[in-house]
Amino acid sequence: MVAILPQLDPKSDARRSALARQRRKYAYKHSLVEPLALLEKVPRADKPSLRWWITVMKVVAENLANSLAIKVEQASQGIISFEDDEDDSAEVKADLELLMEDAERIADGDLDGMKPSDLEGDGPVSFGDDDSGFWSRIKSRVRGGAAEPAESSAAEGSSPSVAEKAESSVVAEIEAAIAKAANSFLSTGDTVPRVEGRATSLADYDAIFCTIDVPAIRDTYQLDRSFARMRLAGPNPAMIERVPRPSAKLPITEAHYQVAMADPEDSLDLASAEGRLFQLDYAGLDGLLEGTYPGYRKYMPAPIALFAVPRSGDDRALRPVAIQTEQRSSATSPVLTPADGEAWSVAKNAVQVADGCYHEAVSHLARTHFLVEPFVIATKRQLSSRHPLHVLLEPHFEGTLYINDSAQSALIAPEGGVNKLLAPSIDAARLAAILGVQSYPFDEAGLERQLVARGVDDPEKIPDYPFRDDGRLIWAAIQAWVTRYVALYYTGDDHVAGDYELQAWAAELLSFEGGRVVGFGQDGGVKTRDYLIEVVTTLIFTASAQHAAVNFPQGSIMAYTPAQPLAAYAPSTPTATLLDVLPPLDQALAQTELGRSLGLAYYTQLGRYKKNTFRDPRVADPLAEFQAELERIEAVIVERNKHREPYTDLLPSKIPQSINI
Ligand code: MN
Repeated sequence: MVAILPQLDPKSDARRSALARQRRKYAYKHSLVEPLALLEKVPRADKPSLRWWITVMKVVAENLANSLAIKVEQASQGIISFEDDEDDSAEVKADLELLMEDAERIADGDLDGMKPSDLEGDGPVSFGDDDSGFWSRIKSRVRGGAAEPAESSAAEGSSPSVAEKAESSVVAEIEAAIAKAANSFLSTGDTVPRVEGRATSLADYDAIFCTIDVPAIRDTYQLDRSFARMRLAGPNPAMIERVPRPSAKLPITEAHYQVAMADPEDSLDLASAEGRLFQLDYAGLDGLLEGTYPGYRKYMPAPIALFAVPRSGDDRALRPVAIQTEQRSSATSPVLTPADGEAWSVAKNAVQVADGCYHEAVSHLARTHFLVEPFVIATKRQLSSRHPLHVLLEPHFEGTLYINDSAQSALIAPEGGVNKLLAPSIDAARLAAILGVQSYPFDEAGLERQLVARGVDDPEKIPDYPFRDDGRLIWAAIQAWVTRYVALYYTGDDHVAGDYELQAWAAELLSFEGGRVVGFGQDGGVKTRDYLIEVVTTLIFTASAQHAAVNFPQGSIMAYTPAQPLAAYAPSTPTATLLDVLPPLDQALAQTELGRSLGLAYYTQLGRYKKNTFRDPRVADPLAEFQAELERIEAVIVERNKHREPYTDLLPSKIPQSINI
């Protein structure tokens, strides 16, 4: 079946009746995260593939193993007694063993019998040589003995192999094990291991990483340079903006400026005149109701932070100049500079907390996951599976309905991970996410428009901005691919106007009964080919690169909680110590586990479409060009990383096709 526009399709009746069925299957529901458009119920066809489960299960199993190892470690040091906790630990251990055995069978067994679509395209599922070390370390910890070779699992001979089981039962088994693990460790806190209470030194946080690697950010996050770098290559790299002068809310003086810049030739006025001042203002978080679940008083700072690029010289890296931890200057939130010792560290932490909350609620959940959802639903309902845009977009929507449904039903539920870890109450966090969608017009979501709107598009003014510099390469590659693909089917604007499925799609996305999308469309429809290309490029970029940039630092940076805690645990005043405001160890562990679960599971790769996605032979050449361009970009970024502090989140090989985690 070759894709064809509806107005040219001789089988238009069959198309119409198939779409009517789709509209019964995919229904909008606006009360789940009111008033956003989400899907009422995820159909079976949109449940994740086995490969996805294996990918996620491996990380969850690592977390589970780590938690158990913490217990074993603490028991061996006499910090806890295992006897007091026998049932609890036995249960965790049994779950862990089950997960490990599944993982090993999957890794060792041949994979015949699995649904081929799950496994093609990306090579075999492998737990690889790197992982055998991990699994054997786990075994030696868990069993308290010498590491056993991976092959000698006693259960292997007698248990049915994954290949022998029906796919659905494997999925159900893994789902149950993961749900159980997730409940225990992420939500209820019933079996939270004995890493708990206030840290007495920063080194206490190291105990969280028993069998898992400590993220490298641990060694650098306290440096001002690293703090500035996170604005440009961290979890929330699309926030900082150039300002003509510091906010009036921040009463900064020349003396403050000189502390950070230490250049007699430079001044605040000169930096202002030359456009070298940059700012973060978390005004949107000011006054948010603060959370208390699961039994901690959490604090939500709403800081303003000023940065500057040095005037000249070899090192023109962005520097932090001043921070005020609240919107209003006061005795408890004065302007602080790098000369202020521990108060400065507390102020930087306040920025990290605010940035982490803004990241999760707005940049990540709202402006990638929830932004894309109505487009997924409308594509299912209004574009026939024979429609060329349905064919192109579907791989970029894989898993999104499912993960978003999990997010709304579990993650942002009253006792879910977000309420547990983020500073605002769950109602306040949900509201921030909703406003994050509504205040973000789709037509302004494209990369270049975002860069221009924030005044950070000029490399002369802000050099070495990896999210921008690598993002532009990816954007251009996607745009070229979309342009060539669209041209195969739409020879001019008249084809766009005459595509009645596309017009129904646009109308539904804008409608109150449908997608409720803000800032989208040309007078209620799609009129030109250029606009269509912009829309499709924005969708694919958001679902792939933009999401990757905000999602994966959850595993590489936020999983080391002191680098970016999601809440403060005392007011961020000049007299507070860093240990006062940092999370208790059990909360830090929960953040590590959530960050790793969401930020280390890479499923699919940008540009690697499954076999037979495109039946139209004319697609082969443009697709080959796209794939070759992504390989070239990979090499360019690898080369760039030799000359800058490495940034890997926009390496094409680390960008999934879709929002699926
Ligand atoms: Mn995500």
